[in-house]
Amino acid sequence: MSRLTHWQGFIDKFNSKLSKWKVKLLLIGGRSTLVKAVLGSVGIYYMSFFKVPESTLSNIERLRAKFFWGGEPDSKLLIWIKWENVLASLKKGGLGIGSLKAFNLALLQKWRWRLVANRNSLWAQVIKAIHGEEAGFNQNRCKSNGVWSKIVGSINHLHSSGIVPKHTLHYKLGCGTKVRFWKDNWSGDTPLAQRYNRLFRLDPEPNCMVSDRYVNGEWNLKWIRPIIYGRNLDYLACLTSELEQVISFEGQDELRWSLGCDGTFTVKDTRHHIDDIILPTLETSTIWCKNIPRKVNIFLWRVRLDRLPLRLNLSKRGLDIQSITCPLCSNGVESNDHLFFMCEVASSIRRLIETWCDLQFPNLVLSSDWKTWIDNLRVSKDKKNRIQVIMAATWWNLWKFRNSITFNSQNLRKCDLFDSIRLSSFSWLKSRNSICLAWHDWLKTPL
Ligand SMILES: [Zn+2]
Repeated sequence: MSRLTHWQGFIDKFNSKLSKWKVKLLLIGGRSTLVKAVLGSVGIYYMSFFKVPESTLSNIERLRAKFFWGGEPDSKLLIWIKWENVLASLKKGGLGIGSLKAFNLALLQKWRWRLVANRNSLWAQVIKAIHGEEAGFNQNRCKSNGVWSKIVGSINHLHSSGIVPKHTLHYKLGCGTKVRFWKDNWSGDTPLAQRYNRLFRLDPEPNCMVSDRYVNGEWNLKWIRPIIYGRNLDYLACLTSELEQVISFEGQDELRWSLGCDGTFTVKDTRHHIDDIILPTLETSTIWCKNIPRKVNIFLWRVRLDRLPLRLNLSKRGLDIQSITCPLCSNGVESNDHLFFMCEVASSIRRLIETWCDLQFPNLVLSSDWKTWIDNLRVSKDKKNRIQVIMAATWWNLWKFRNSITFNSQNLRKCDLFDSIRLSSFSWLKSRNSICLAWHDWLKTPL
């Protein structure tokens, strides 16, 4: 699988899953789910064994990006947000879709965990018989340029580049019967053999366990010749001082992966960690509200980033459009702030909602300010949720109304806008919460 032509079938598989009819039928929420989920069924086998070439990854990421933005594979498309930003986690300002590169590297990294966790299994013994006691991991001396050596190369690269430090895999010391004194990571950030290499070479049993060197309550180090002078004596003093800090000799030794929530290796945690390092970060984290549909969350994310195809934004990108005036009021440039906050249609709707909710909204101009205002409100969590859902429904329906006017589709009329907001917010809350909510109560007192 080293030649690019070998990966063409892999690209074709992705392409067939993200087909044209799905682009046309699905909304952005569904497309984002498919872009994320399609990984689960396509390519996982190959990516578990082989490092996918960068150019193949770029090709597939291009396909995924195009599908996400609703474009057909061979068409040109206006990309509103860089794909790397879409892939990034919510805390990094993205949508948490995750990169294929990180997925591939995390799947390969799992071999290191498997090898150490199942040291005596048959497959591990076979690998060691071929590549030596360390299976090529520590010395990087694999005996052939095959699949295993490439897996080891990829894992070692993650270590050397600092993306996944070596001490991520370490032992929490128990009785010490499973932990190798010199070669495993159990004290400090690196194995003792690495830090005290001169002493390690003087031990007659380089593969000894911690329990072999701790006998009857004290350390019992062994050397092929006495250490009585020179630098080795200084090293020994340091090692002894470090060993005196060790406190546990009870219970089971536990292998731990510090990137995992419960200390166990998972591809998901490792992948998120790699993505957080290799993907860019936007200025603000993504706000994701579980009470509103995915497509609306993505829409609000675009509002916050000012990446909607508004007339001003289209004109800034060099598109030749007839007018940049707001289609709702014809009284200002159609910008993000105007359409959702300053436009007289937005203001009149806001006044209706204030009366309906019996709540005074502040005169803010950014959706991020609205989030701060909601967070600081001294009301119950349930009320905050409801306000957030109502605001989301307001902007979503304003956008639908704007599109209805712009494209002359008559999907939503101005006189129906307020009712549509009340209906959207009610149905979102009702379908995503177990709370008992009656329609007539919602119309009277939503909060
Ligand atoms: Zn306007």
